[in-house]
Amino acid sequence: MENSTATKAADPRKSSFTMNRLQKTLRGDVGRAIADYNMIQDGDLIMVCLSGGKDSYVMLDILLNLQKHAPINFHIKAVNMDQKQPGFPEHVLPTYLESIGVDYHVINQDTYSIVMEKTEPGKTYCGLCSRLRRGNLYSYAESIGATKIALGHHRNDMMETLFLNMFFGGKLKSMPPKLLSDDGKHIVIRPLAYCKEKEIAAFAKMRNFPIIPCNLCGSQDNMQRQEIKKMLNEWERKHPGRLDVLFKSLLNVAPSHLGDTELFDFKTLEQKRKRAPEQPQFERIDAVNLG
Ligand code: SF4
Repeated sequence: MENSTATKAADPRKSSFTMNRLQKTLRGDVGRAIADYNMIQDGDLIMVCLSGGKDSYVMLDILLNLQKHAPINFHIKAVNMDQKQPGFPEHVLPTYLESIGVDYHVINQDTYSIVMEKTEPGKTYCGLCSRLRRGNLYSYAESIGATKIALGHHRNDMMETLFLNMFFGGKLKSMPPKLLSDDGKHIVIRPLAYCKEKEIAAFAKMRNFPIIPCNLCGSQDNMQRQEIKKMLNEWERKHPGRLDVLFKSLLNVAPSHLGDTELFDFKTLEQKRKRAPEQPQFERIDAVNLG
């Protein structure tokens, strides 16, 4: 007699169907984001940044897939930065990237020691750590002539960032799908901008990517972000579909209905006002002629 474990074992045909469906959804979302923001042009050299987390693996996988079918030519270079956190398994990404035959490079830069040295006790490491990482990635992109830098942030990251900036920074600002760096030298793209985190996670699990855990630095990884994530997930649990509507609002902004004077010229609205059509002038009746 079949035992219950065997009965419950995953049906490989069903798993493969689910994986194909997920891949199709993610590929569709990435394709739409690329088209909507004109993210990739013919001849682009795209530096795809890999952290070893699920998001960047999925981004690379989908971009490689799209590259095969795209009507334009673009080159992909996968880049990881080894920040020398103790215990970082440095062989994992190179082994994977070699197995799929992708052009790649690892930047070896001990930013970990700098962060440890410069961060005051009790403060979180993430701010300085990500600034140093960004600086190194930008420099490397420049050295290889990369025309785009692709990051693996997805729509949940964008919504979380929106609330983080509102709650803690006093700014209505998120992560854009496409960005010109402050020095004007780099274009950053986020091809997963329309992708849902739960679909990315499910696909990464099914594809068995060799995920590198993100707790190597021992940082309190951004407690505020975790709080916001919990808040958003709770909203979605209580009101299914709320995140879809919330995300839609990020793509549908009405500057005239906010209050930023840099974004909308409130001061000269008078000049734009349409004048009412001229009213016929009534003849002036002189009081002395009455009666
Ligand atoms: S979690 Fe660790 S690796 Fe990531 S930004 Fe923070 S300090 Fe850096």
